[in-house]
Amino acid sequence: VAGDKVLQAVAQRIRNSLRESDIVARISGDEFTVVLRQIDNEYAPIDVAEKLLTEIRKPYAVLDRQIYCGASIGISVFPDDTTVADELISKADYAMYEVKRSGRNGCKYFTHSMQERSENRHRLFTRLQRAISEQQLYVVYQPVIDLKTEEIAKCEALVRWRDEDGCEIPPSEFIALAEETSLVNEIDRFVLAEAGAYIERLERETGQRISLSVNVSPRVFASTEAALQSWLELATDVASRVDLTVEITERMLIEGPEKALCVLNKLKASGATIAIDDFGVGYSSLSYLTTLPIDFIKIDRSFVQRVDETESARMLVDTIISLAKNLDLQLIGEGVENHDSLEMLRSKGCDYAQGYLLGKPMRGEMLAKRLQVEEVADQSPV
Ligand code: C2E
Ligand code: MG
Ligand code: MG
Repeated sequence: VAGDKVLQAVAQRIRNSLRESDIVARISGDEFTVVLRQIDNEYAPIDVAEKLLTEIRKPYAVLDRQIYCGASIGISVFPDDTTVADELISKADYAMYEVKRSGRNGCKYFTHSMQERSENRHRLFTRLQRAISEQQLYVVYQPVIDLKTEEIAKCEALVRWRDEDGCEIPPSEFIALAEETSLVNEIDRFVLAEAGAYIERLERETGQRISLSVNVSPRVFASTEAALQSWLELATDVASRVDLTVEITERMLIEGPEKALCVLNKLKASGATIAIDDFGVGYSSLSYLTTLPIDFIKIDRSFVQRVDETESARMLVDTIISLAKNLDLQLIGEGVENHDSLEMLRSKGCDYAQGYLLGKPMRGEMLAKRLQVEEVADQSPV
């Protein structure tokens, strides 16, 4: 009811901001289309859009409450952009989508590069969909070293995509896109199931215990109840077979703290542990560190990589480590590429380290080999 009232109020404000001859239509849920019939210098689309934004942003008094909302506006121009009505709308739509992607609340004119970007995203999306169904995805494992024993204590499962031509497409090019849709849920499920089964087999065959970390997108927690339940069931099953850590990012906590608490509690009850990934770059409040059941903090590699260069990076890492120690959380330093960073982490009492210096992400067989080499080294007399 409140939603409908706000929509009506928005429609009224739009109407009042325009000329009598302009057209306003609500074309879907919360999307409006405005057609400016006669544009000239004094009545330029960008000025009209700014005016609309200002009007729409003013508070709404609905059911005794103050409600705020914003708008993302895309603009296309007849006949410059196209002379076909449908295309005019879809071009405005591309522009609106760009505004949404760049943080909402604003307006942009349509450009050809927007359309190109959008079409590229669409192509990549279709390819990714096929990659999932045709099993072009696979999992690599990056070792995580225990800084006290110097041994591989854990590994992080990372997804990889090799397309039909044998090209490797890095996660940085497809995870964000996958997150805009529910495809990322399928990727996360695949990695969890695949890595869980592999590590279980590895332990059985080598007799060595190794913890498994998997990444999970905040999207899983925001997905449908059924998708979330089925992911939780899988995670519970994997956690009953191997020592499982689920890596989440601060973004998930920002997006829905209550839901996060509920899901994390269930995960903990299944025996899994929780790590905050990329800690320090998420701009979130720190209070969650005491209210949520968190076990590990992974110091983002942007801090670790600069510790040998700048004093401020050193102080930040130092502070993160003391914060974690005081809260009884364990620490993993990410992105260790040289000995200086490694020594800095070790001397400050960081518990684990991960990075190219200690091992790049590798196929399962390579990880198994490394574990065997370690074991042989342990057993041979000194
Ligand atoms: P992340 O979870 O923080 O993973 C660590 C990333 O840092 C990995 O990149 C790893 O290859 C890279 N890395 C490790 N050590 C070093 C180092 O010493 N130097 C540098 N420069 N990089 C290092 P990758 O595999 O490209 O993955 C990037 C991100 O994509 C991951 O960051 C994670 O957020 C996401 N991702 C990867 N696999 C999955 C997945 O299965 N599910 C989800 N939801 N996200 C995933
Ligand atoms: Mg991670
Ligand atoms: Mg990370």
